[in-house]
Amino acid sequence: MKRSNHQSQDGSAASSVNISGVSSAKRRPPNRPIDVVRFPHWSVYFDGASEIYSDDHELAPAINAFTTYFFTIIDKYATEKKPIKPSLRVIAISYADLQSQCQLQDLSERLKLDPESVLASLGLAFSNALIEKFGDVVKRLKRHVRILGHDQITPLKDLKSNLMGRFITIRGTIVRVSSIKPIVTRISFSCTSCSATQVILQIDGKYKTPTSCPGDGCRGRTFVPERSGLSDTKTVDWQRIRVQEKLPEDQKDSGRIPRTVECELTEDLVDLIVPGDV
Ligand SMILES: [Zn+2]
Repeated sequence: MKRSNHQSQDGSAASSVNISGVSSAKRRPPNRPIDVVRFPHWSVYFDGASEIYSDDHELAPAINAFTTYFFTIIDKYATEKKPIKPSLRVIAISYADLQSQCQLQDLSERLKLDPESVLASLGLAFSNALIEKFGDVVKRLKRHVRILGHDQITPLKDLKSNLMGRFITIRGTIVRVSSIKPIVTRISFSCTSCSATQVILQIDGKYKTPTSCPGDGCRGRTFVPERSGLSDTKTVDWQRIRVQEKLPEDQKDSGRIPRTVECELTEDLVDLIVPGDV
């Protein structure tokens, strides 16, 4: 079983493994971003999902509620004289805050069952709130919203395959951290027959090649990764850590070996912790 966990500073971890969306939205051709006036950065977040936005999209109510929530956050920081800059890429928010202010009945259930959609919606909403506040200076890039204080902690003994793809929080002591490596998330390939290029998403670092050529009428079947620095190939920082459960007081002397679990950290979560942290 492979788990890809994102660990946040307070010890909560979001497991997000390759979820296929639940949406019935129409497919769009790959590599052709379609943005919408309402959410100019839509395709930054819903790239692999190949989804088209519409006002009755099932995520629309959540994204609207989150956008309003981020307005209040931006205003709050401004009044506290710690203004948020339009270049901010990562923001940490309180789970309790989000729940009480967004008034979405199924938020906790949705976050648990479909974390990729909810986290993407939060990122898009944050980008959108920044755009409405600051205008065109807001760069088109992926922002991460990290959820702090998620109170439903899963004991390591309950970490089973039925939690694959779920958003979970674990608590434990960091016993090992790996070195930081780049992991490739998308590779730009060019066709050896017609030179047409296409981007293939690389899930969990597994190498995936194109199956057909996007070129007009081209039946080329051989593709090579583009080597130029200008290609759309993208890597992110990656690190693996091992977390060990804290044995209850009455079991400390029982000789039982504490359970451990490996988690994978990416991007801004890399290099935040050292062994011994809880
Ligand atoms: Zn071709």
